[in-house]
Amino acid sequence: MAKWLDAKVVGRTDWNDHLFSLRFACEDFPRFKAGQFTKVGVEQGDKVLARPYSLVSGPDDKEIEIIAVPVEDGMLSPQLHKLQVGDPLKIMSPATGFLVLDEVPKSRDLWLMATGTGVGPFLSILATEQIWQTYENVVLVYGARFEHDLAYTKLIETYAEHHPDNFHFVPIVSRETITNGLHGRIPTLLKTQSIQQKVGLDIHPDNSQVMLCGNPAMIEDATQTLIELGLSKHLRRSPGHISLERYW
Ligand SMILES: Cc1cc2nc3c(=O)[nH]c(=O)nc-3n(C[C@H](O)[C@H](O)[C@H](O)COP(=O)(O)OP(=O)(O)OC[C@H]3O[C@@H](n4cnc5c(N)ncnc54)[C@H](O)[C@@H]3O)c2cc1C
Repeated sequence: MAKWLDAKVVGRTDWNDHLFSLRFACEDFPRFKAGQFTKVGVEQGDKVLARPYSLVSGPDDKEIEIIAVPVEDGMLSPQLHKLQVGDPLKIMSPATGFLVLDEVPKSRDLWLMATGTGVGPFLSILATEQIWQTYENVVLVYGARFEHDLAYTKLIETYAEHHPDNFHFVPIVSRETITNGLHGRIPTLLKTQSIQQKVGLDIHPDNSQVMLCGNPAMIEDATQTLIELGLSKHLRRSPGHISLERYW
């Protein structure tokens, strides 16, 4: 049964002034599946003000991590942004959600496509052995406005070092150009085949599964482009190729 657990902030990373990660300890939090989310919140009187957040940490990590932005005029996220080491938090047990590898049909290639904080569940999935044992090629496509909005790039580079033949990282920024990545928006760069050419792989229903997470406009437009490439939305009752999670 779902219940609130007490947690305590043990670390924070400020990627810039509007993008941060919180790491917290919660000894009783049950094991979760990589890619899942749970509610995180703060006590307000006798109530808990909480919102769902994807877990960035892997299922084997001792501590739990989330990445978030302080949404202007948001009720909770500006409060989370102010939390410091030692501050208390509430976390809902257990985690839940279907953006997990067990829900994705088998295929040769797995494409993980995220914008902004949507990279969180994919970092959790990349931390598992399951992904490396299941797919011949794993591609992380990660979009943001500016290069400084791309979090965890050092961690992502370690996957490229450990899996040089089957991991491809495509950073994409829309408001400046970067040396090792692409410039523009994910849906457009899929349509022009720029992402596929950069990686050297095609996206085809016979060999590709795609997981999408992040900005709703990106999800909608990328889904449309992928459908034009012959892929279809994946549902339990009707297997396809596109699995997604919307944050709002
Ligand atoms: C399954 C799920 C997983 C989620 N995981 C994350 C996560 O890992 N990290 C995260 O930051 N948020 C995540 N969210 C969104 C999060 O739950 C909150 O909506 C967000 O933090 C804003 O809460 P708030 O109380 O400050 O804003 P509210 O007062 O509730 O206002 C909500 C509005 O904030 C905007 N908004 C919500 N999320 C974002 C965002 N990430 N970036 C920009 N604008 C946003 C939208 O316009 C939305 O309508 C997730 C949502 C869902 C449904």
